Amino acid sequence: MTRVAAMSQAFAGLDRRDEKMPVLFVGHGSPMNAIEDNRWSRAWAELGAALPRPSAILCVSAHWQTRGVMVTAMDKPRTIHDFSGFPAELHSKLYAAPGAPELARKTKEEIKKTPVALDLGWGLDHGTWSVLAPMFPRADIPVVQLSLDATQGPAWHYELAKEIKALREHGVLIVGSGNIVHNLRLRAQQAAGFDWAIEFDATIKELIDKGNHQAIIDYPRLGRAAQLSVPTNEHYLPLLYALALKDSKDPLTYFNDAPPMGSISMRSLRIG
Ligand code: ZN
Repeated sequence: MTRVAAMSQAFAGLDRRDEKMPVLFVGHGSPMNAIEDNRWSRAWAELGAALPRPSAILCVSAHWQTRGVMVTAMDKPRTIHDFSGFPAELHSKLYAAPGAPELARKTKEEIKKTPVALDLGWGLDHGTWSVLAPMFPRADIPVVQLSLDATQGPAWHYELAKEIKALREHGVLIVGSGNIVHNLRLRAQQAAGFDWAIEFDATIKELIDKGNHQAIIDYPRLGRAAQLSVPTNEHYLPLLYALALKDSKDPLTYFNDAPPMGSISMRSLRIG
C-alpha cells in the first residue's frame, strides 16, 4: 500500500460518536522523553494503548505561541526540532503523522468568538511530537495543533477552550502539552523538587480535585510558589484548556504524578 493510501485509510473521519473522547493534559518535560524508554514515556505508551482510538488529535502545545489564534491545516505537518544540544538521534527523529485539514476547518468553525487562521507554515513542535511518539508510535492518527495566543490572559484561554468541547463527540483527542511547574532558569532536573515546586504542584492538584478552576485561572494570586513555578505561563496554559473541557460527570485521574524534580512537575491528567 502506498503511504498516501495508508494515511487516508487511517483517517476515520469526524463523524459523531456515542462516546465522548477523553481529554489529556500531559506534562512533557525533556524532549528526550520522545526517544527514551523511561517512566514518563512508558506511561504515555500505556495510555495510548488504553485510550479509544481517536479519529484525530488536536494538541495545544506550550511551544507554539502566536499573535492571534492559528490551527495547523496542512496535509503533512513537518516535525519541528525546536531545541538544541541534544543527541543526533533526537535531532533526526521524525514523527510523520498526517495532518487533518478537515479538523482544522471544523475547529475554526467551532471557535466563534475569536477569528482563527488556518496555518500552513508550522507543523508539529516537540511539545506535541515528543509525547505522541511514545503514545501513538505508529504515527497513523492525524494531528493538528492549536496555537496559544500570547497576547491573551489565562481566563481568555480557558473560555476559548470551551468552544471546542464538541470535538470530543467526534472522536477527537484534545491534548494540552506543557508542565504545571516549569522554571528552566533554575536548575531543572535535580532529583529533589524545590519546596515551592512541591507546594505549587500540590496546591494545583487540590484545586483540580475541588473543581476550583477559577483559582487555577487566577494562579498569580497563589503567591511566591506560583511566581517561581510559572515565571512565564506558556507551559501552564495548556492545563487550562484541558480543565475547560471537563464536564461535571467526567472522571479525572492523574498519571506521571511523581513529586516534582527540581523545577519541573510532570503531573498529568486524564479527563473522561
Ligand atoms: Zn516544553
